[in-house]
Amino acid sequence: MNDFNDRMRRILLEERAKLTGNLLLEHQQFDEMIHQHEIGDSIDEVSTTIDKNLLERLGANIFMSVQRIDVALARMENGTYGVCVKCGKMIDKARLEVLPEASMCIDCQKSTTHHR
Ligand SMILES: [Zn+2]
Repeated sequence: MNDFNDRMRRILLEERAKLTGNLLLEHQQFDEMIHQHEIGDSIDEVSTTIDKNLLERLGANIFMSVQRIDVALARMENGTYGVCVKCGKMIDKARLEVLPEASMCIDCQKSTTHHR
């Protein structure tokens, strides 16, 4: 574990605590629900087991953010953190500083958003 990853991990964990902390105020079982799912489950799969209205109320965006953070943390564990999932290049550290949960380099992110 290098210093950079170590620092990013702390930021991610803080951010995650903030996000789930907000959610817990609304629904105490939310964190539990997240843990019932494998990291990388799509929001669709999750929606089938979590009441859809509840999910909407809690905010799918927050849910997705927590998932992204979990994925980033998992990638730290297996040593692929900081590698673009699309092209396999290293993601610019300056980008990770701003967006620690980024899984794509800036170029791939741009091309992905463009095609929407
Ligand atoms: Zn890339």
